[in-house]
Amino acid sequence: MSARIVAHRGYHGSDAHGARENTLAAVDAALAAGAEVIEVDVRLTSDGAAVLLHDPTLERLWGDARPVAEMTLAEVAEVGGGRHRIPLLAEALERVAGTGAALLIDMDHPAPAAAAVEAVRTARAEAHTEWCGSADAMRIVREAMPDAVIHLPWSSAEPPRAADLEPLRPTFVNAPHLLVGAGFVAAVHALGARVACWTVDEPAQAAHLARIGADSITTNRLRAIRDAVAADVRDEGARALAIVESLAAHAAAHTRRARTEGVGIVRTKRDAADHVTEVDTAVERDVRAVLGAQFPEHDIVGEEYGGTSDGAAPCWYLDPIDGTANLANGVPWTSFSLALVTEGRPVVAAVLDPVGETPVIAAEGAGAWRGGERIAVPEPADGDPLVGRMVTTELAGARAWPGFVELLSGLSDRGCTLRVPGSGTATLAGVALGRGAAAMVHRYSPIDHAAALLIVAEAGGAVRDESGASSLHPDSGPVFVGASAAAADALLTEYSAARGRDASSVG
Ligand SMILES: [Mg+2]
Repeated sequence: MSARIVAHRGYHGSDAHGARENTLAAVDAALAAGAEVIEVDVRLTSDGAAVLLHDPTLERLWGDARPVAEMTLAEVAEVGGGRHRIPLLAEALERVAGTGAALLIDMDHPAPAAAAVEAVRTARAEAHTEWCGSADAMRIVREAMPDAVIHLPWSSAEPPRAADLEPLRPTFVNAPHLLVGAGFVAAVHALGARVACWTVDEPAQAAHLARIGADSITTNRLRAIRDAVAADVRDEGARALAIVESLAAHAAAHTRRARTEGVGIVRTKRDAADHVTEVDTAVERDVRAVLGAQFPEHDIVGEEYGGTSDGAAPCWYLDPIDGTANLANGVPWTSFSLALVTEGRPVVAAVLDPVGETPVIAAEGAGAWRGGERIAVPEPADGDPLVGRMVTTELAGARAWPGFVELLSGLSDRGCTLRVPGSGTATLAGVALGRGAAAMVHRYSPIDHAAALLIVAEAGGAVRDESGASSLHPDSGPVFVGASAAAADALLTEYSAARGRDASSVG
C-alpha cells in the first residue's frame, strides 16, 4: 500500500532550507522536492483577496499583531519581501500550474471560500485543486463546484457513517492522524471514500499509517516521510514515544485552558479531598481514543475509567491529571502520567513537568527528554546526600501515612527539608529534573508512578523499592528515587527508621 505525501503549508522550516510556511518560497521548495500535493492555508483580506496565511493575525510569522481580516491587500503586500511575503492564492496557483502537482486549499473558516473558488476558476485550476478545512467552507465549495475534490473534516476515532458523507460527497475523510486506526481506514474505504490524515512528522508513524491503508499523509517533513513510507520503516518504540509526547502536549493544552477558563464542575470520589474535574475525564477520553486507534491490541488502565490488565498484553497506565486537588484550588502544580508496561516493566513514558506544562518523555535504554532536550540528573555533591538538600513526598490522599510524621522529624533533624507539592508524578519525576536530592511515595501505583520511575532511571537517577531492589514496576509498597544511589538508599534507610518509630504502624 502506498500513500501519497502532502507538503503541509508548502515545504518549510529546517527540512526546507528555512523557507517560511505559506510563502511562494515554500511552494517552490515543495515543487523542487517533487511534492504531488501542496497544502496551503487561505484567509481573506478586508478588501476580499484570498491570501496564504494560517493564523488569524500576522503575529507568529511576521511579528505584527494585526488581524489579516482588518488589513487591505495593499497593507498585507508591504509585509516581508520577494518570495518571502504573504502571497495571493492566485500566485500560488500560478506557481503550481503545469507542474502536475495539485494545491490542497485549507480554510478553518468559511469567509475565504467564495474568493478562493473565484481564484481557482480564474486560473482554470479546478482539475489541480483539492479542498479541506471547515465543514461550512466545504459546503460553499461543493455548491459552487459539483466536481471539486473535497476532504470531509473528521475529529473522532469513530469512523463516519454513510449519512455523514451524503451532504458533501467527499473524496477524502480527513482526520488527525492519531485518531486513524486500521478499523477506521477499513470503514471509510467501505463507504467508497479515501482516508487523509494530518500532520505526521514521525517517520515510523507515517510508515505505519501507510501500512494500515491511509491514502494521504500530510507532513512538514516531505522528504523524510516520503523516504520512510517508501522504505516501510518499522520502529514501534519511536512510534510510541512520538505518540506519548503528543498526548502529553494535548493534556498540557487542556490544563492550561482550565487554568484560564476554570475547571468546570469539581466532583469528589472516595472522600472530600479526592477531586475529579471535567478536565480529568476529557483528557482520559481523548487519550483512550488515541491509544485505542494506534494500539488496538494493548490494554489500558486509567484513573477515571478504570480497566484491568492480566499482564499478558502490553498495558498503558494513565493518570490524565495528577494533582487534581491543586488544579481545583488554583495551585499551578499538576502533571500527567502515561506509561506503557511490557513484560513487567515500563518501556515508554510521558509526564508533564508542571513548570511550563512541558512534556518529559523516556524510552527504556534510550534516554529521557524534556521539551526535546536530553535530560540527565545533575552530579551529586560530595558528603551526606540528604544534608542541606530537599526531599519530596506525597500524602496518602489528604492524610499522613504511617511513619510520615516521624520521617519529617528525622529528615529535619539531619538538616534536610521535606516538601509535599501535591502531585506524585511530578514529585518522583522532579528528581530527574534536578529538583531535590530524593523523593518517595508511600505506595506505588502504576497509574501515577510508572512513567516517572522510567524517566528517573533513564535520566541516570536511582530507583529503589522497599527491599532496596531497583524495580521500576514493583507490586506495591513504597518507592524511592534519588539523584544518586546514595541518596535513594539514604531516604529508604530514613523511611525504615521512621516506620520503626511510628508506634501506630507496629503490627
Ligand atoms: Mg492547514
